Amino acid sequence: MYDPISTRYTFPCPARGETRVLLHDFRELDRLPGAAHPAVFRVRYACSCGDEHLGLVAHDELDWAPLGLGSHLFLNLMTDRLEPVEDELGDLAARRIGAGEWPWSFFCYPEERPRPVYPSMFWLLAPGQLEGSIGLAVRCPACLRVSINIVSAAHVDVPFHNDAAVGVVEHVFRHDAMRTIDEFRAELDSAAFDARRLRLH
Ligand SMILES: [Zn+2]
Ligand SMILES: [Zn+2]
Repeated sequence: MYDPISTRYTFPCPARGETRVLLHDFRELDRLPGAAHPAVFRVRYACSCGDEHLGLVAHDELDWAPLGLGSHLFLNLMTDRLEPVEDELGDLAARRIGAGEWPWSFFCYPEERPRPVYPSMFWLLAPGQLEGSIGLAVRCPACLRVSINIVSAAHVDVPFHNDAAVGVVEHVFRHDAMRTIDEFRAELDSAAFDARRLRLH
């Protein structure tokens, strides 16, 4: 379902049968209750037919497939370490993570610091005010609060591509703020952004 060469996900389209979308075409991710191994996310995505549809993605397709990693690796965000279930760690992505590079990152506004993150913690995405920019609401894996960053499409789509600086909405959101993608879009249109450097170390 995820193709690492084109970095696209294949989803159903009621009009065209099938569509291939990039991660930044996702609009809303919602972890479904119940399924745990793997967890399953319901994703609303913007389709090339002009509509938005709903699809399902397993946790490993979301976080591991873009890295070419098998499910035998486990990233512990509490210790910031990639912990292999097996001993063999020959993979390039695993080595880059081991060297302190992060496939994805964002700026946590409540903590005033950059944080590593995985796509499963992305919540809402929508095109930003600037051409090519993406507004991204992230639930912080460390403090569990929501931050909104303005990033490039590549920052979302391409593992290990991290923007040098991102736009940050200077606001601490309640956990129940922005219940809908429409409220998020309104926030993106009205909010002021401040630049923050995203260097993690
Ligand atoms: Zn469609
Ligand atoms: Zn945080």
